[in-house]
Amino acid sequence: MNITVIGTGYVGLVSGVCFSELGNNVICVDNNVEKVNMLTGGHVPIYEPGLQEVMTSNMEAGRLSFTSNIQDAIHRSDIIIIAVGTPSLPNGEANLSYIELVAREIGSYMDNYKIIMTKSTVPVGTNDHIQEWISSLTSHPFDMASVPEFLREGTAVKDTLYPDRIVIGTNSERAVTILKELHQPLTDQIIVTDIRSAEMIKYASNAFLATKISFINEISNICEKVGADVSRVAEGMGYDRRIGASFLKAGIGYGGSCFPKDTQALIQIAGNVDYDFKLLKSVVEVNKDQRFNVIRKLEEALDVLDGKQIAVWGLAFKPDTDDVRDAPAVEIIQRLLDQGATVKAYDPIATENFRKEVDSPAIIWASSAMEAAKGVDALCVLTEWKEFMEVDLTELAVHMKQPILIDGRNIYEEDQIKDTAFQYYSVGRPSLTNIDGRKTAVL
Ligand code: NAD
Repeated sequence: MNITVIGTGYVGLVSGVCFSELGNNVICVDNNVEKVNMLTGGHVPIYEPGLQEVMTSNMEAGRLSFTSNIQDAIHRSDIIIIAVGTPSLPNGEANLSYIELVAREIGSYMDNYKIIMTKSTVPVGTNDHIQEWISSLTSHPFDMASVPEFLREGTAVKDTLYPDRIVIGTNSERAVTILKELHQPLTDQIIVTDIRSAEMIKYASNAFLATKISFINEISNICEKVGADVSRVAEGMGYDRRIGASFLKAGIGYGGSCFPKDTQALIQIAGNVDYDFKLLKSVVEVNKDQRFNVIRKLEEALDVLDGKQIAVWGLAFKPDTDDVRDAPAVEIIQRLLDQGATVKAYDPIATENFRKEVDSPAIIWASSAMEAAKGVDALCVLTEWKEFMEVDLTELAVHMKQPILIDGRNIYEEDQIKDTAFQYYSVGRPSLTNIDGRKTAVL
């Protein structure tokens, strides 16, 4: 099939590359000329494991190309995929201006029957608007389909090539036949539904996963007070097939470009039809506060943060990505600076992106984890990068001015901590940290 993907970010690029891997001819369009030039030169502009190899092989096979000429790309394709961003407006609603612009461009350049497939996450009813925007500019026939994207950054290529399910929301039999054929090589689990239900499936899925995270984080806060261990609790819950083990890892809460904005948008979607989504509002509130447990634990260990030097390991919102959008590290570091601390920050991949969000003379950008930790009063782990798990903790403690470790992601086990000098704080595991912050050698 001949496919054009508009918007070559985390979703559009990975989708385009993977559809070409299935043997389709794919043109990826972006209005960021610098990005297109980089891609045309064969370089992936984001950090996404495995993407470079698949992209290179499909470019070499002549199935994958990049352009900023949207008109030409639309003319050469039968399926047009919309994958531009839908960031939050200040009131939490999704900003649909990129979507509208692209829809109007599609309308202007239509020349025969096409399927317009929306992968961007859009509020319920948006595909109807896209249909109207396109129809107002063309009399050529087309069908709309909402095919929401469920990939996760860091495992995006695998998620795209081996999805749990594909959701196709459309009211056109013709589009169902073609889109089923397109997705059949990926999975047999294809759910065909109406457009509005497909749009809602995406928001409901992300809201549910966010709810699981806030739920286990609240349980972890209670565990700290009653002396239970949240990792054992989550393990015991997770074996129950009705619950499932995923998204039950306590920590400093969710971040990233999807959960925060999609939960806010669903609250707004509900509010627009006079429905007060109380549960989801609480999920968001819990998440906003959870990250500051790191600050509270630092204060417990150090008393005042003014004048202290704190190392931060991990700036990306999760491991294996360079994405820092809504990463907990942004607010945590800002709070540390506000309280008069200086920061030594390190991330294996995301430092450059992070510096565009937060920069200050009070932050030293370290080039290794050990360098960040040298001479500091305390160290906070904010992202569970694998390299942090493999650090020699005894050596680490020697390098620090005070061996205080705030593990915001529970990446260390008791065995690793118990023979070190660390005063260790984790999330919801009080058995590893006694009342004055000193670890106990129990269990
Ligand atoms: P992104 O910001 O990484 O990429 C968007 C791209 O669209 C950018 O490269 C931008 O230059 C381009 N663009 C904007 N306007 C354009 C125009 N008029 N013409 C051509 N290109 C244009 O965004 P993303 O993370 O890939 O997310 C895209 C959508 O997918 C969002 O709605 C998001 O909610 C959804 N989504 C994202 C993820 C994720 O993990 N990132 C997962 C599932 C769904």
